[in-house]
Amino acid sequence: MTGLSPNYYTATVPERELGFGALRGSGAASVCVVGGGFAGLNTALGLAERGARDVVLIEANRVGFGASGRNGGFVFGGFSRSEESLLRELGPERARDLYSGTTRAVELIRTRTARYAIDCDRVDAGVLWANWFRDPQVLHERQRLLEQNYGVRWEWLPRERLGSLVHTQRYHDGLFEPQAFHFHPLKYARGIARAAMAQGVAIHEQTPAIALERNGRGWRVRTPDGAIEADQVVLACGGYLAGLRAEVDAGVLPIATYVMVTQPLGARLDEIMTTRAAVYDTRFAFDYYRPLSDTRLLWGGRISVRDRSPAQVEKLLYGDMLKVFPRLDGVRIDHAWSGLMSYARHQMPQVGQIEDGLWLAQAFGGHGVAPTTFAGELLASAIGEGDGRWRALADYGLVSAMKPAGFIGAQLSYWWAQFRDEWKDRMEQARTR
Ligand SMILES: Cc1cc2nc3c(=O)[nH]c(=O)nc-3n(C[C@H](O)[C@H](O)[C@H](O)COP(=O)(O)OP(=O)(O)OC[C@H]3O[C@@H](n4cnc5c(N)ncnc54)[C@H](O)[C@@H]3O)c2cc1C
Repeated sequence: MTGLSPNYYTATVPERELGFGALRGSGAASVCVVGGGFAGLNTALGLAERGARDVVLIEANRVGFGASGRNGGFVFGGFSRSEESLLRELGPERARDLYSGTTRAVELIRTRTARYAIDCDRVDAGVLWANWFRDPQVLHERQRLLEQNYGVRWEWLPRERLGSLVHTQRYHDGLFEPQAFHFHPLKYARGIARAAMAQGVAIHEQTPAIALERNGRGWRVRTPDGAIEADQVVLACGGYLAGLRAEVDAGVLPIATYVMVTQPLGARLDEIMTTRAAVYDTRFAFDYYRPLSDTRLLWGGRISVRDRSPAQVEKLLYGDMLKVFPRLDGVRIDHAWSGLMSYARHQMPQVGQIEDGLWLAQAFGGHGVAPTTFAGELLASAIGEGDGRWRALADYGLVSAMKPAGFIGAQLSYWWAQFRDEWKDRMEQARTR
């Protein structure tokens, strides 16, 4: 499968599903979406669902090439920025309004998998947030905050209950988000691409936008073989930076994160977990993992400003996995890969109009599946129907990520948070000896 990096997802997407041809020559569009990740695809599909015509989406590689086609597959509410920060910065009403956009998006993804018959290995088993630390306060506080301010109920699982679902001594108690689910993100990306195409969107892979310029009241997007003249343009290039507008690329830090997939575990899967929920933990630098339908375990974690080879990813994550499941020692790893997330300094998405007819959807960080769907809806109704609700995100605009110092800052704050978590863990263990 040329153009997509080799990983578990690319290995399990049927070849026949591919093939959105490259753009040859020039054309015109009402809207040209640049970037075939979830942000771009959801905008294009949202436009098509609202009856927009002449929508064109161009993708430099293949649909789902970026973070969208290689992520952990967790579909849950919220943003990279904490619910507590949103509350403090926006006040209860606006914070609740934004957060509920993401929980509605979780439902919309579920609805679309059914409406468009997208076979994407959806597992409706919720997501578990497992407490790495002994102190239960952090769980109770988050549970209360979510319920009181956001109207969302996460169930508290005492240690024995969590231990009956995930068989490790590592965790204490946990919270369960029942509305959440997990899926095969590349199959879903290609499924919504097909749904958009069926409703008239033209999708062209292997078609990078190489320049963007004003063209009267509209825009001209140059490609290697021609140009698209469009009334409106949406830039949705995530951490893979389009190189079209300096201030857009300057707004985000591309940050790498890693994933690996074990060999099929067969009955051994039930030895480590009987739940089919996806799991992550309460550390800043958390592990995340989920059981796959073919009894493999998908394991992810860590962030870094530098990309790593599959062998390095495997070495790092294998050690992390054994800390939680020592009994998996010796298990073979069949796939390991990395992907780039895009982070703004404020850790919120940058969504909205930056110039007349020029729209942006980027900076979804490591929590982007539902927020990109929410953003797609906001932009589709803004462009298609003149709806101004995208302004709800205006407080978190296009601010400089201060590269290259921003990279150093991001890496240092990650190491600092990692150190704090390790220190807390050691202190707790010393107290219980
Ligand atoms: C390893 C990993 C694990 C993650 N796990 C989760 C998870 O479990 N749950 C969750 O909610 N979020 C997760 N995330 C985050 C989530 O995947 C992202 O926030 C989201 O997919 C971002 O979507 P996007 O469309 O903005 O960017 P991308 O998916 O990166 O898409 C951008 C696209 O733009 C294209 N492009 C760039 N420049 C051009 C150009 N000039 N012309 C044309 N095309 C161009 C790129 O090729 C790329 O395909 C994870 C991310 C990673 C990397």
